[in-house]
Amino acid sequence: MRLRNITGSREVIAESPYVVPEDTLESCPGTWHEIFGNDHPIHIEIGMGKGRFLHTLAKSNPQINYVGIEKYSSVLLRAIQKMEEDELPNLKFIRMDAEDIDKVFGKGEVDRIYLNFSDPWPKDRHAKRRLPSRQFLARYNVILKKEGTLEFKTDNRPLFDFAVEELEPAGWQAKVITYDLHSDASLMEGNVMTEYEEKFSSIGNPICKYIIFR
Ligand code: SAM
Repeated sequence: MRLRNITGSREVIAESPYVVPEDTLESCPGTWHEIFGNDHPIHIEIGMGKGRFLHTLAKSNPQINYVGIEKYSSVLLRAIQKMEEDELPNLKFIRMDAEDIDKVFGKGEVDRIYLNFSDPWPKDRHAKRRLPSRQFLARYNVILKKEGTLEFKTDNRPLFDFAVEELEPAGWQAKVITYDLHSDASLMEGNVMTEYEEKFSSIGNPICKYIIFR
């Protein structure tokens, strides 16, 4: 069960120094280096969930700025609560629907996009809501640097097959594709497990992953 409205989550989000206020998002494109106060690369996770993946990365890579994007306040709240464990100046959160992602980051402002265990939206008529769909790839095409990277992992094989098929019409090409990430020692080097990855790999589901270097 997903808790969408935990009492007080909106207030906690509004007061958190880690969350970019919703009413300032329109002015964010082109200013992310000012927001972080440095010119380090910007890596984002879209559909971050409770944020453990980005928290782990931000802790071990202080020279990279991370932005986690999550649609639901109640889920984002968990990521904010985790920040009580560590102060991480290189991690920020946005509560928003990623449909507007190209209105929050400027052209070529993002160095890497992570999609982890994106919601499958199994009905055909909802295909354009899937985060690795061609509609979303078109938005990523705007915000991702020319030499940027897109990484997608999931245990959902139909979603992964769909995502791979979406690449060509969008003009993208995967440099790495695996249908069993956890059996590939070289790809597992530096792999950071997400909450969903841990849950589904522990019950034996193989994890699929692609990486695109533009
Ligand atoms: N990435 C995390 C992981 O691997 O553990 C969470 C995966 S969870 C299945 C997908 C998350 O993406 C949910 O928290 C959901 O609210 C969020 N999400 C789905 N569609 C979104 C959208 N259009 N914009 C922002 N977040 C979205």
